[in-house]
Amino acid sequence: MRSCRLCNNEVLGRADKIFCDIKCKNTYNLALRRQTKLEVKPIDRLLHRNREILQLLLGSLKKVMIDKIVMTRANFYWDHCTGLYHNKDGKIYHLVYDFAWMEFSSQQILVVKKKFNLKQVHAQPMSK
Ligand SMILES: [Zn+2]
Repeated sequence: MRSCRLCNNEVLGRADKIFCDIKCKNTYNLALRRQTKLEVKPIDRLLHRNREILQLLLGSLKKVMIDKIVMTRANFYWDHCTGLYHNKDGKIYHLVYDFAWMEFSSQQILVVKKKFNLKQVHAQPMSK
């Protein structure tokens, strides 16, 4: 006997069914979405903050060199990004949504606004 993932009642019907009825399915999925929203919020906030800092530093320019200390003082979270991009010269760009930064030297950061090719950004396919 298969039991419902939410209420443990018997599940009848198709072999891939995991809930006894639509109410249990909706309740479960709603709780899952709520928990996800709650868990990702602090990280989302950091990423949004990082994006805002990059946007402020760049202004209307397409690229700019910034002293690392300026970004550190602005409370830039160096270890949070939305992806990595390795260019052909072996440099690593840290993506923050539609912006990216790269450690140009130990003291200088290159900030760019660019649309990257998603195939290049995700070297390995992301699983769902
Ligand atoms: Zn159920």
